[in-house]
Amino acid sequence: MNTQISDNLYQRAVNIMPGGVNSPVRAFGAVGRNPLFIEKAKGSKIYDVDGNEYIDYVCSWGPGILGHAHDEVIEEVMKAVSDGLTFGAPTKKEVILTELVSELMPSMEMVRLVSSGTEAVMSAIRTARGYTGRDKIIKFKGCYHGHSDGLLVKAGSAALTTAVPDSAGVPRSYTENTLIAYYNDKDSVRELFEMNKGQIAAIIVEPVAANMGVVLPQEGFLEFLREITLENDALLIFDEVITGFRLGLDGAQGYYHITPDLTTLGKIIGGGMPIGAYGGKKEIMQMVSPVGPVYQAGTLSGNPVATAAGIKTLDILKNNPLFYQELDKKAKRIVAAITERAKLMDKEIKVNQIGSLICSFFTKENVVDYQSAVSSDTKEYAKYFNEMLEKGIYLAPAQFEAMFVSVAHSDQDIRKTCEAILSTTIDK
Ligand code: PMP
Repeated sequence: MNTQISDNLYQRAVNIMPGGVNSPVRAFGAVGRNPLFIEKAKGSKIYDVDGNEYIDYVCSWGPGILGHAHDEVIEEVMKAVSDGLTFGAPTKKEVILTELVSELMPSMEMVRLVSSGTEAVMSAIRTARGYTGRDKIIKFKGCYHGHSDGLLVKAGSAALTTAVPDSAGVPRSYTENTLIAYYNDKDSVRELFEMNKGQIAAIIVEPVAANMGVVLPQEGFLEFLREITLENDALLIFDEVITGFRLGLDGAQGYYHITPDLTTLGKIIGGGMPIGAYGGKKEIMQMVSPVGPVYQAGTLSGNPVATAAGIKTLDILKNNPLFYQELDKKAKRIVAAITERAKLMDKEIKVNQIGSLICSFFTKENVVDYQSAVSSDTKEYAKYFNEMLEKGIYLAPAQFEAMFVSVAHSDQDIRKTCEAILSTTIDK
């Protein structure tokens, strides 16, 4: 695999951007090689600047559920672009997109559009605090909710593999209201409520944790979070930046039949353009400026090009509900290949999968929480990643991330991927 042009670009990039990248996980630090510079993508494939082709299972970390550069989405984006890039004034598309989101996720009675998942979560938490008049929030170790100061505590994603769970530059005072519980551990949540009676504004959770690899909620865990928040007049915030429109049209909340008070979205709702959203009960969302006292704003919020891509993406998903079953079937074929490989090699690999999210952990333990997730041998993962890359399969360049399957992954792509998995020497 010739990566000369990528390597040259990387040499320039590290001199001008920290780590040569604009988001840490892209640096490939966890897999011990230079990052690839991507020139273009179409459908299930991405192409680097050296002309190498890969079947892509990163899918821009989730937005690409339809695959890259879907013709209909691109057409809408082109139309929107020719009408002007931003107005700083309301548009019809914002109304259409927020109505569509609310129709598909009925718990989001009112929606505010922002420009990223980070912003969505930060704003949802401010709203929860404004509404309840309380300061403390509970988050789970290993869940990632963007990089806002108060949430960079025991965060997941690149914050796990870069071994900086607590970021420098975050004053202690900014995180003292962030309480940490353990995912799938009810007692840890109960304890925090008991110790902080009447002070907790909200629990924020990734209903399916997808930033410490993929970790599913154990039976009754999400129900418990709903109950304990109701009992304590606290809000339940589902961070569905990854799971929204990925587990189904109604996200994880539909999948598990739980109604949160607030939901945060990103990724898929922008169809590949920068966007985020938060929303929930009308009574709560009416706390947000200009109707309420919780201030939140954005120059490019509800951007016309991003909303055009988002509307078309959601429309396609809405009109093809069978996509979700197909995604699940494709994912299961990949899981079967990984399991088969592990068996052949007499090696323990645990694979977690739900719908189009997959993660392989190189461990004996069943991965049900943060502790078991980090028991995975990340060196084995790095080896696996590099071998797969050489075979033309582009996986997440770090252990604690999901593998994303898209509608654009063809039968042939899945077959090729399974063959690649079965021919790896990962665990020798
Ligand atoms: N929440 C979750 C669950 C996420 O996975 C992410 C990003 N991967 C975010 C929030 C932050 O989104 P963004 O990167 O768009 O700021």
